[in-house]
Amino acid sequence: MTRDRSIVIIGAGLAGAKAAESARATGFDGRIVLVGAESHPPYERPPLSKALLRGETDPKSTQVHDSGYYGAHDIELITGHAVVAVDIAMRTVHLTGGTTVRFDTAVLATGATPRHLDVPGARLDGVHYLRNLDDSMRLADAIRTASRVAVVGAGWIGTEVAASARQMGAEVALIDPSAVPLRRVLGTEIGAVFARLHADNGVALRLGTGVAALRGASSVEEVVLADGRTEPADLVVAGIGVTPRIDLAAPAGLFVDDGVVVNEQLETSAPGIYAAGDIASAFHPHYGRHLRVEHWANALNQGVTAGRNAAGERDVYSRLPYFYSDQYDLSLEYVGHSTADEEVVVRGDLGDRKFIAFWHRDGTVNAAMSVNVWDVVDHLKAIVGLARPADPLRLADLSITLEQLANRD
Ligand code: FAD
Ligand code: NAP
Repeated sequence: MTRDRSIVIIGAGLAGAKAAESARATGFDGRIVLVGAESHPPYERPPLSKALLRGETDPKSTQVHDSGYYGAHDIELITGHAVVAVDIAMRTVHLTGGTTVRFDTAVLATGATPRHLDVPGARLDGVHYLRNLDDSMRLADAIRTASRVAVVGAGWIGTEVAASARQMGAEVALIDPSAVPLRRVLGTEIGAVFARLHADNGVALRLGTGVAALRGASSVEEVVLADGRTEPADLVVAGIGVTPRIDLAAPAGLFVDDGVVVNEQLETSAPGIYAAGDIASAFHPHYGRHLRVEHWANALNQGVTAGRNAAGERDVYSRLPYFYSDQYDLSLEYVGHSTADEEVVVRGDLGDRKFIAFWHRDGTVNAAMSVNVWDVVDHLKAIVGLARPADPLRLADLSITLEQLANRD
């Protein structure tokens, strides 16, 4: 009998919403409380830098579940209230407004928060960050009236926002200390494909230099680059990375090391308390170490596992990391996890922006990405999943099919 038991889920983002859904789907018939600091019901963030930003879809379409879902599944959704403290010994969480909720098991799904620029002028009007729905709506209005947009940081937010802003007709400069966009994830050779993509679409690339200051009377007027050049801009969007929201976990006494550390069942150092999504540094059986993944599929699937385990299951989370991005007419899917020092093998044509890249160490493929090549993700997952050395030349050989590479004995 679970009727007198309670699960509290802290953070009503994608991971939190999937945790609530999957806990109930196990047959758990106790209380499920899902607490979110934002005033919106749980929603998905990928459209915030893409279709929603460009005004091609509406906020409602981003919702994880329709509005009747939570009531229909007896999930108590509390929005607009943050959890301010977790008391592990007492099994209680305290909310803004003074409410206390008791729990038997809990899921932490508080996600991540954007890093802020730390340069003179960073607090001028016209400087934007993009994490939530309200940010996206504000940014969309600002792009429509801006004469020149400076995007600081050529990571995922920076490249996607630069693409959307160009598609909305804005003049855009993209600034990053690295020589190519997305260098940390994709490396120099593949990052250069994204430099060309953005240049071909009219983005002014200011790469290899950081930002020294923002200048303006009350609102931003120009960006001063670290190399002394200036870039006119009446709108700055900074996408310079995120940090996991461990503000509840650390004081509660949970083990934290670049996120909340969890085992392969997503359980924290406190029994019965789980973590999922951007906040979780989870032991990954395939890679044999902890990984913290800041992408949509990880939030979705870890949310499911954490919710099920909070309801009494003992599932192991072993899915390979996966993410996607869309920029102009380029769509990519990425499977696995690689580090910057790994070798890259290209199958196809970088110039045509239609290829598959494999990142490997001594032939063992740790990650693969398809760019404008469709319906190959299952093969890429199988190739990464092999975890055994292959001849790198075979990966590039178009006369050998992906299926053959995936089914290698
Ligand atoms: P979050 O989405 O951050 O949700 C956490 C929630 O918890 C938030 O609503 C927060 O307000 C709430 N919260 C925090 N603290 C408290 C508290 N104390 N009490 C109550 N509530 C709290 N990934 C991809 O794979 N592909 C994409 O194309 C893609 N596009 C993206 C575009 C944008 C603009 C952004 C910002 C992210 C994108 N991502 C993408 C990444 C993906 O959205 C994240 O990995 C995912 O949202 C993480 O989900 P989460 O539930 O772990 O955390
Ligand atoms: P990100 O992908 O980590 O990229 C941050 C970029 O900013 C990196 O290129 C980084 O360079 C650079 N940078 C760091 N400090 C800087 C500074 N002071 N000045 C200029 N550049 C600086 O983070 P993000 O783009 O901000 O995205 C935020 C989160 O949303 C991430 O978790 C990301 O995964 C997620 N997201 C995912 C998608 C997707 O999967 N399609 C889309 C949007 C957002 P270094 O790497 O060299 O430090």
